Amino acid sequence: MNTGLLTTALISLFSLSILFVKAQDKKPTDRIAVTAKRMIDVRSGKEISDVVILIEKNKITGVGSNLKIPDSVKIIALGDVTLLPGLIDAHTHLLHQYYTRYGDDNSNRILEMIQLGPAKRALLGVKLAREMLDAGFTSVRDLGNSSINADIALRDAINNGDVIGPRMFVSTRALSPVGGQFQSVTPTAQGLLNEEYVQISGTEEARKAVRQAIYDGADCIKVIANSGSRRLSLEEMKVIVEEAKRANLPVAVHATDGDGPSMTAVEAGASSVEHAYTVSETVLNLMAKKNIFLVPTDVPGVTKYQERIKRAVKAGVRIAIGSDIYYEFPGRTRGQISAGMYKTYAASGMTNIEVLRAATLNPADLIGNNSIGVIEVGRFADIIAVRGNPLTDISVLEQLVFVMKDGKVYK
Ligand SMILES: [Zn+2]
Repeated sequence: MNTGLLTTALISLFSLSILFVKAQDKKPTDRIAVTAKRMIDVRSGKEISDVVILIEKNKITGVGSNLKIPDSVKIIALGDVTLLPGLIDAHTHLLHQYYTRYGDDNSNRILEMIQLGPAKRALLGVKLAREMLDAGFTSVRDLGNSSINADIALRDAINNGDVIGPRMFVSTRALSPVGGQFQSVTPTAQGLLNEEYVQISGTEEARKAVRQAIYDGADCIKVIANSGSRRLSLEEMKVIVEEAKRANLPVAVHATDGDGPSMTAVEAGASSVEHAYTVSETVLNLMAKKNIFLVPTDVPGVTKYQERIKRAVKAGVRIAIGSDIYYEFPGRTRGQISAGMYKTYAASGMTNIEVLRAATLNPADLIGNNSIGVIEVGRFADIIAVRGNPLTDISVLEQLVFVMKDGKVYK
């Protein structure tokens, strides 16, 4: 080793770091204090009054009641509002939008497949991502229907700062039985299905699909356990989970229609079951035992869905709420529609703090990211403010007055 060269390198590194420190001193906006009348600590469920959150660059460095604010720190005084960690939607489709004027799911599906490629999908995502962030969603888990890797492109553009949106944790194409979620299409059109799903038949195709998703840059794996009478087998599901877990990726399984498809996911050891609208205690108890999350995507006012939420809470299943919104509602943004979902769960009997945890901390744990989901020292400064108190009225989550993501104010 040439020690002379090493010394020169060390000296220049040292002077560089001095320059860096000096540059930081000139930028007081790197250090921020956000103050408000109250904050909800979603972990303990407690209210903290006259809260001060200290932020350096993009991380939280202090949080507490009446904390001393150091000099030369920029103060954002929000007054009579409640601070919360940024919302996390556990089930989104930001590159996917249906229109009621085109008819039902199947007609929309075919039109979308034929008319939109990855570029148009990603550009649609640019709009919807901004709408989600404006509504307080600082992170989303985006589960497919994004054409080939357009979700990766959008996630990376947001992370690069080229596009404004939530942190995205994406799945790339969903793995599915033959035909994906399409009803019958002509043999000529069937070739196009690969734009939207990776159709698997057999364990080796399942293995290959997961390995491809990992190579493409997926943060999680999305699986369609059933579509009509087409179902993946337990053997296929087990291989998917085994391959994903080796790469430390969570597996999200779409499962509907009674216990069967959900049970396949649970027996194979998936990380979450999506929808599971009508599952029995047998499935829920096993989910609780194996620490598998339920990601309900309920529409309001359906008694049997509400009852299974009650049974899930009673069984001790952790819930991470997902909107699964993909229809356009004229006059309302995607974010506004998605924020409306929380009152559905309060109506199903979850307490307000349980809903808040299912909107923040639980999805963070499901995603496997311990830098988001709660306002604590060392975590990213993803903070929202609402008027009123969500512990007494959950619908205040629909009236955001402040959004900060990664230490930057967006609203
Ligand atoms: Zn979905």
